[in-house]
Amino acid sequence: MTCKDTAEFIEAIAADEIRPTPEMRAHLESCPSCASTLATARRLEMMLAAHRPPAAPDRFVASVLQRVRRERWRMEQKVDRLFNVAMLAALVIVAVGVFALMNLSGVVAASEGAWTGLTTVGSQIARWMVPAIDTYIAAAGLLLTALGMWWWAERRVSL
Ligand SMILES: [Zn+2]
Repeated sequence: MTCKDTAEFIEAIAADEIRPTPEMRAHLESCPSCASTLATARRLEMMLAAHRPPAAPDRFVASVLQRVRRERWRMEQKVDRLFNVAMLAALVIVAVGVFALMNLSGVVAASEGAWTGLTTVGSQIARWMVPAIDTYIAAAGLLLTALGMWWWAERRVSL
């Protein structure tokens, strides 16, 4: 045991945070320099203890911090999952919309024969409308995705 090895632990020993090992104790008993350092540290510790407010112990603070970190991590994971679910939902909405429109186009095309003459104008309008609706759905999907990403980024930053 050298003075350097002992010096690291003197404060902790003085604060009763650790018990000195037998080698450490032997060194503290035989080395006047370390013994006086320990005595000074003990005096300081006693002085501090006398004036110390009944504060929360360090371990409490550490455990609270650890808990906060863990909760934060969990929250972040939850946000990530939520984001994935939102993206998936947006994709499903877009896919369903596109699928429905494709079916609608089929229905319009199939009924076109029966509607000849009377509904020429109507089917013409439908033919104009369908690509437009398609664009609207795609735009809505994009908007939803953008909103989702914005929401996700915002949540991340505010965490
Ligand atoms: Zn020493």
